[in-house]
Amino acid sequence: MNAVPRVLSVAGTDPTGGAGIQADLKAIAALGGYGMAVVTALVAQNTMGIRAVHAPPVEFLRRQLDGVCDDVEVDAVKLGMLFDTAIVETVADWLGRVRPPALVVDPVMVATSGDRLLLPEAEAALMRLLGEVESDVLVTPNLPELAVLASAAPARTESDLSDQARVVASAYGVRVLAKGGHLDADHSDDVLVAPDGTTTAIPGRRVATRHTHGTGCSLSAAVATARVRHGSWEPAVREAKAWLTESLQAAGTLHVGRGRGPISH
Ligand code: PLP
Repeated sequence: MNAVPRVLSVAGTDPTGGAGIQADLKAIAALGGYGMAVVTALVAQNTMGIRAVHAPPVEFLRRQLDGVCDDVEVDAVKLGMLFDTAIVETVADWLGRVRPPALVVDPVMVATSGDRLLLPEAEAALMRLLGEVESDVLVTPNLPELAVLASAAPARTESDLSDQARVVASAYGVRVLAKGGHLDADHSDDVLVAPDGTTTAIPGRRVATRHTHGTGCSLSAAVATARVRHGSWEPAVREAKAWLTESLQAAGTLHVGRGRGPISH
């Protein structure tokens, strides 16, 4: 293991710097890592919403992925927006060949603006990827994403959230960080579930801010980075969540855009 974690984000873009690859690189740097990025899709967006998505040919995606890994030893990979079936399958094939030691899968599906970041027909491919991948995996769904992965109605309580996280962890043999930020509660507690069902509460404060754009992207990239230094998931999740809470608290000082602004990385 390197002194500085070498972390690769495989994700979409946000030209305003709040979400996607741009957010990932800032989060990785903030947690003391060296960030790298392979672009899956170019997204024309700002803090008010998504205008267009352009997915380059998957052959070009493969060239980017191989280009990094033919040269650099990667300590952890984070997957973000994968957009369509061809992209998911190209990334899955690459993961099977490269087997990064630690992998965070942020199962990005729909932006808060309501725009699709994963086409509905690609959800099955993402689930196949989760079932096949052989790295040490952490999946970081928010409440609606967890419901899709668990084939259930969206959780309404913390106990639903834990139950669904256990279903997903067992079905795919992965670790799950189910995020409680979308629950109607005065705190923002998450739950970490191991493949054997062991469940750990990760308490968190709810920060009163509308500037939450890119929160999920930033957290997953931060966890990937912290995982390399800690060597295990739980302390990595706690460190990343503490960092994210501070970044949310400082978001109001940024004044970036007229919509839901980014967090302060
Ligand atoms: N854009 C990209 C490229 C993303 O990957 C994501 C989330 O993962 C978003 C936008 C959405 O960010 P939010 O829903 O936090 O506004």
